[in-house]
Amino acid sequence: MRFESLRWCETNRLPDDDACTLYQAHAREHSWDVRDPETEALRRCILANYSGWLARLTRKPD
Ligand SMILES: [Zn+2]
Repeated sequence: MRFESLRWCETNRLPDDDACTLYQAHAREHSWDVRDPETEALRRCILANYSGWLARLTRKPD
C-alpha cells in the first residue's frame, strides 16, 4: 500500500474568490460546478410541485 499527498486545485472563481475544494488534476468541473444528482432531482421536484408555496414563503412582508 502506498499513500500519496495530492495538491489542491489552485483555481479560484472570480469575483467571489471562491477556491476549488478538489484535488489538482480533478475530472472536469471545479467544485462549485459539481452537483449532486439526488439533490438536483429534489430541487426540480420542489420547483415543479411547490412553486406557489415557495413564492408565498419567500416574499417580503407587506
Ligand atoms: Zn478545481
